Amino acid sequence: MSVGEHVFDVVIIGSGPAGVAVAERLYEKHPAATIAVVERGPVLLRQHFYDSPRSINERDRFLVEHGACPWEGDLSRGGRLLPCLGGRGVVGGGQLHRFYEQDFTLWREGLWGVGPGALNPYFVEAEKRLLGSTQSAGPSQDFVCDVLGGFNARHPPHGPNSEVAGTIEGGYPHKSSAERLLGLLGRDRDSGRKRLSVFTETMVVKLDGSRSRSSRVHKARCVRLRQGEESTLSIHGAVFVLAASPVESARLVMVSEIAEAQSSSSAVGRYLAEHIYCRGYLDVSDRPELRHGPVNVYIPPLGSGLDDRYQIEIRSTTHSDDNRLLLRVTGSAAMDPRRENRVLISPDRVDAHGVAKAITELTRSPDDERRTISMISLMDDVVSSFGSRWLTPPRPLPCGASYHEVGTLRISAAEQESAATRNGLLFGTENVFVGDGAAFASVGTANPILTLTAMGYRLADGLVHLLDSAS
Ligand SMILES: Cc1cc2nc3c(=O)[nH]c(=O)nc-3n(C[C@H](O)[C@H](O)[C@H](O)COP(=O)(O)OP(=O)(O)OC[C@H]3O[C@@H](n4cnc5c(N)ncnc54)[C@H](O)[C@@H]3O)c2cc1C
Repeated sequence: MSVGEHVFDVVIIGSGPAGVAVAERLYEKHPAATIAVVERGPVLLRQHFYDSPRSINERDRFLVEHGACPWEGDLSRGGRLLPCLGGRGVVGGGQLHRFYEQDFTLWREGLWGVGPGALNPYFVEAEKRLLGSTQSAGPSQDFVCDVLGGFNARHPPHGPNSEVAGTIEGGYPHKSSAERLLGLLGRDRDSGRKRLSVFTETMVVKLDGSRSRSSRVHKARCVRLRQGEESTLSIHGAVFVLAASPVESARLVMVSEIAEAQSSSSAVGRYLAEHIYCRGYLDVSDRPELRHGPVNVYIPPLGSGLDDRYQIEIRSTTHSDDNRLLLRVTGSAAMDPRRENRVLISPDRVDAHGVAKAITELTRSPDDERRTISMISLMDDVVSSFGSRWLTPPRPLPCGASYHEVGTLRISAAEQESAATRNGLLFGTENVFVGDGAAFASVGTANPILTLTAMGYRLADGLVHLLDSAS
């Protein structure tokens, strides 16, 4: 059954931190633009998971219950999406870092087409919006920073209104994408002028475009799933923004046969990368210094070379069996950007809507392995500084478990290794823009949400000019 047709200036596919950054900036900077945000999942949370005093353990259970992995291949071992309003941003965001400056140019194969200078004003704006009362600044936190002072351990980036969070495991809530999007809907209601439409439980299955040399996409073909009933929907737009997460955005491009995806020299689907996660636990139940508030500390890269591209996070949590106080130590190392790491379309496996599934191929380079070994050695040193031994020594998490995948539709400084222009326009199309981590030319060392947001704001400013010049 077809339930209708809709027309918008800009159609954004995906409501995670990336898609919402584009939507909110556009909403504010272009008072006439009509915007659609299309999200395959339902509304699960209206605010960030940590906005009620809930723990890391509860969050992990929530993710297992509601998450789903639509991919085949390497990333399916540990990776997953959270198909809901706000995407994975409703559970992630304890650490909101800027992309480290040297990582924009450190990898020869991963030179960014967008520099730190161009992004700076957008980072400032992203920090103003996202970093709220997110810092834990109690005595336990200070104690850990002191013990690990030799490693340059720091409080996570925080906003001006920092305060101590309530519980020992309590999180570090920031304004999640779901909350910000719902806020914009509220503004629409108050003004009595509907500019923003949010379609939940609506999955874009194909982008339909003209078949000329350069595709002009005119509609997103969608399937709507409500109360077990499936219907179809067409959402028309002047401009489309891909923000479905790197693997899903690339899949959509490939199944829609837009862009230059078919040629073997194309960068579409290529340069998939993520952070390699290793995690261990430390029993600190006998340390009275750690009973005074939560801990959320990070150790930035210790040097500026390729071998140093990892960071370590230390957070307090409790043992799931007996509530013992633990420190969870997570190392996260960059993967090199490599052409052979990629997303493909399965020749024979389809999802519930008959759309070809994405296959992910992700292998580690010798440098990735070396970096990981060096990171684990630093994690050992961190634990020794506490005068303790591991309860559980650092173990590599399965591929995908960082939830920081990037690449696949990259904006690189080298045009022949790019899938999109520096303004994010997908090569071979006239009106499809890359709005998520697919655009990153390298994964760098920092967690991605803040950089996704800054990139989204920059893209939105470009779209404002585009819409203005078209009118
Ligand atoms: C437990 C956890 C902790 C994390 N901690 C941090 C952290 O501290 N700092 C940090 O920076 N990052 C963190 N992250 C990572 C961060 O959440 C992700 O990098 C970020 O959410 C990616 O944003 P996105 O908008 O690109 O993708 P997502 O958040 O994955 O959103 C994509 C959305 O698109 C929707 N979608 C997909 N396909 C379609 C389709 N065909 N049609 C319609 N909709 C579609 C999905 O349902 C999803 O809602 C964490 C993630 C997790 C899970």
